[in-house]
Amino acid sequence: MGYPVGRLTGAHEREGELMTSSEFDADTALTTVKAGRGPSQHVHPDVAGFWNALSAGHLALQRCGECSTIRFPLSTHCHVCLSGDYAWERIDPRGTVNVAVKIHEGVSTMPYSGASLPEPWKSMAPFVTGAVDMEVGVRLPGRILCSCDKALSPGTPVTAVLLDTRDGAPVHGFVHDCNSSTSESSNREW
Ligand SMILES: [Zn+2]
Ligand SMILES: [Zn+2]
Repeated sequence: MGYPVGRLTGAHEREGELMTSSEFDADTALTTVKAGRGPSQHVHPDVAGFWNALSAGHLALQRCGECSTIRFPLSTHCHVCLSGDYAWERIDPRGTVNVAVKIHEGVSTMPYSGASLPEPWKSMAPFVTGAVDMEVGVRLPGRILCSCDKALSPGTPVTAVLLDTRDGAPVHGFVHDCNSSTSESSNREW
């Protein structure tokens, strides 16, 4: 082990700060954050814009105020120029599948496999999940609704959608055309 300390020291040195152990303790002290009694995700204020946008019906990501990079994962600073300046921007919901897997069955009787799924995923199987390359140039993870299995092929066009959760705030997912063309399929329970 020992790798986290080396990495953290290096990162701080690049920012021109030499880290002492007492400063390190201060940096890692956790702050209590007051937030609405939300079910669903526990949202850190720095990334609350993502969940707020979803609740308002849009997928939004951070655009760097310095170099204009649209970024993901959500972060406090730009991975390109290290600027902490950004604005949340609604993004095009279209993308193409980068990789996808189909979970055929949730198991609970294979203690050594590490493949068992907790609820609610277990009851939801079969379902497809994967990573989608968005038009704006970032790759987002999410469940992919597809009954024809074409979404299992890289390059298949999909569109971001909102998925209700069991306990409140929505999350994003993706849908392949085979599931979005008729009202019957859009009412279907996935
Ligand atoms: Zn930047
Ligand atoms: Zn499909």
